[in-house]
Amino acid sequence: MSLKEIRLKRGKEESLDRFHPWVFSGAISEPLPTDLEEGETVTVYAHDGRLIGTGHFQIGSIAVRILEFGSAAPGDDFFEKRLSDALRLRKALGLARPDNNAYRLVHGEGDFLPGLVVDIYGCTAVIQAHSPGMHFARMKVAESLVRLADLGVRNVYYKSETTLPYKAHLDPQNTYLIGDFETSVATENGLQFNIDWLRGQKTGFFLDQRDNRELLGSYSRGRRVLNMFCYTGGFSVYAMKGGAIQVDSVDSSEKAITLTDANIELNFPGQSVHRSYAVDAFKFLDNMEKNAYDLIILDPPAFAKHRSALRNALRGYQRINARAFEKIAPGGIVFTFSCSQAVSREQFRLAVFSAAAQSRRRIRILHQLTQPADHPVNIYHPEGEYLKGLVLYVE
Ligand code: SAH
Repeated sequence: MSLKEIRLKRGKEESLDRFHPWVFSGAISEPLPTDLEEGETVTVYAHDGRLIGTGHFQIGSIAVRILEFGSAAPGDDFFEKRLSDALRLRKALGLARPDNNAYRLVHGEGDFLPGLVVDIYGCTAVIQAHSPGMHFARMKVAESLVRLADLGVRNVYYKSETTLPYKAHLDPQNTYLIGDFETSVATENGLQFNIDWLRGQKTGFFLDQRDNRELLGSYSRGRRVLNMFCYTGGFSVYAMKGGAIQVDSVDSSEKAITLTDANIELNFPGQSVHRSYAVDAFKFLDNMEKNAYDLIILDPPAFAKHRSALRNALRGYQRINARAFEKIAPGGIVFTFSCSQAVSREQFRLAVFSAAAQSRRRIRILHQLTQPADHPVNIYHPEGEYLKGLVLYVE
């Protein structure tokens, strides 16, 4: 079957020649092929007829996401090949081991599969499509996943109700494409976590904080730890493992607190070090006593989902960081994060700087953190970098 063709306006191939994988709608020479359907795979040509590659078409500002440069049609084994490359990288990273079976196998553009996320939790893969093209490819992806023998996946859960563009009218389902529920417990660095992919946020767990949680564990001995925006309690579990003498977890969602309590109980049954609070973070930070904690984690949701919300987001970061700096005990450590793609590393650092200046304390940066290696950034697609963190020492 031959693919429909899209031709670019003159000069609009430049970013694609540098392997940036998006064709913006304004770059396309009109008219579009007749009957072109959202999610179709198309072939893209420069204005002079030179082949650029193939990609998924979509209605919106990003009109095509390139799957393969220099090819006129992706082969039948396209997904199997890309997924097996992705697995090879995770194996090289040492992430698939008996004491660690939770990791991201596919991070969209970072794995040359734009619009697709695949997280592995033991024998279950949870996939999310962010583009109509990947929605239509879901069964191919699922079948390829179970065919990858060393991946050990038997069940594939598809979860795209919240990730697909709602205007596309795609009937996105949350359902098992292959297999069924087996177990929800996955292991990260020897610690166990109950992953609720059915009801949880994203694929049920924030795998992107794995390395940062491990670092946090190494700072926890003998400290009183406050984990703000705890969600499933990942940082809290690592703090307990690291020898914290007190761990308090805060999240405004009751559901998150239930998940956190369950994960603490799973790893440290009968413990008496951990307490949890279902309250608003801003209120908690405003009301908390001075010197009550020696280690504070601030890992809020993406305050700015879009550029328009940037100013408020930066104000939000400044406010929570200022409270932490004002109140943490002398010699305290703050782990502070932003996962908003719309907030740059510099902007985040400036917000934290302003908070520091407001507190008038002596503060130093100990570590500058980012996302882990199973969330790789395609060097031609810098937009793939989103997680930013600082570890600060507050005198
Ligand atoms: N730190 C977590 C991920 C945080 S996700 C981890 O490592 O897994 C963001 C969390 O912030 C969500 O659980 C959400 O319920 C919570 N949240 C959002 N707004 C909040 C608020 N105003 N106060 C407290 N928690 C909030």
